[in-house]
Amino acid sequence: MTNKFETLITNSLQLVVQSLKNADVVALPTETVYGLAADATKDLAVQSIYRVKGRPSSNPLIVHVSTIESALKWGSFSVKGLKIAEEVWLDSSFSGAVTLVVPLKENTENELSPYVLAGQKSIALRLPRHPLFKEVLSSIDFPLAAPSANRSNYVSPTCAEHVKWDLDGLIPYILDGGKSQYGLESTIIDIQTDIPSILRLGSSSYEYLQSRFSDLILSKYENSKAVPGLSRKHYSPKAKIHLNILPENKRNFYVGFGSMPCDLNLSLDGSLEEAACNLYHVLRQIDRDKINIVDFAPIPHDGLGRAINDRLKRAAST
Ligand code: AMP
Ligand code: MG
Repeated sequence: MTNKFETLITNSLQLVVQSLKNADVVALPTETVYGLAADATKDLAVQSIYRVKGRPSSNPLIVHVSTIESALKWGSFSVKGLKIAEEVWLDSSFSGAVTLVVPLKENTENELSPYVLAGQKSIALRLPRHPLFKEVLSSIDFPLAAPSANRSNYVSPTCAEHVKWDLDGLIPYILDGGKSQYGLESTIIDIQTDIPSILRLGSSSYEYLQSRFSDLILSKYENSKAVPGLSRKHYSPKAKIHLNILPENKRNFYVGFGSMPCDLNLSLDGSLEEAACNLYHVLRQIDRDKINIVDFAPIPHDGLGRAINDRLKRAAST
């Protein structure tokens, strides 16, 4: 099939803002990965997100807003939930990105496109910190639904070129924000009950979050039903992936961690932050180079290593 047009990688905020106002779908940089954004209040705009991604209609979308006041318009926050929101979204020293799941505010169903929620009574909200995403939000008067800007189940994009490889000809614009700062999706925390619980591991680590919120639990995360879209096989490259292979046992193309002989290294210094940032670049490069089988070195299972191992496990799932 030939594409009708070529997707433009642009620096023009004006172009992407106008597209969003026209109910088009565009890709925007965030501090986690690139997002595929559209007006969350318009059915046609939100349906286009699902069509472009090939995303199952049962998988709800995260709604992005620019202020706590806008978050309060869509979500119902407890006193404790609001304190958590202020800390994860407004504290400039906070590390990583967090999405919060709260009950949907009553009487907002008619204002938000029902396709955003995919039948849920809760809503996933996030205040992105990326300056370009913030500028886009401040230029429009509607919230943005924005999942990761990749084809469903493939690896998330962490630079404009990744989005172009996946979605060329399917969207008009990709706003260029360079390489994503964190390179892993947001950590999703359910604050619908009194005990906050992690639904998806991400760019804000469990240990770090627990140092801020001591009663935070990780248990629900193991229950895949808590997050409708988190399938066992997700973030999957075409290559077959073997995990936890020590350097002395490597038999295929080898991705290392720390100082060791290898073909590609997630972080020569053994930094989990750097490895997180490089992970999707490496997975995509493997596919671009048509490498069929890849052995990955063990990654320590703490801090951001938990999220990295979660993504690798899904990437390796067949
Ligand atoms: P993505 O935007 O591609 O990073 O995916 C967003 C994730 O948020 C998906 O796994 C969704 O299933 C999850 N999500 C969105 N809304 C909700 C919700 N109300 N409750 C639980 N998970 C949600
Ligand atoms: Mg995604």
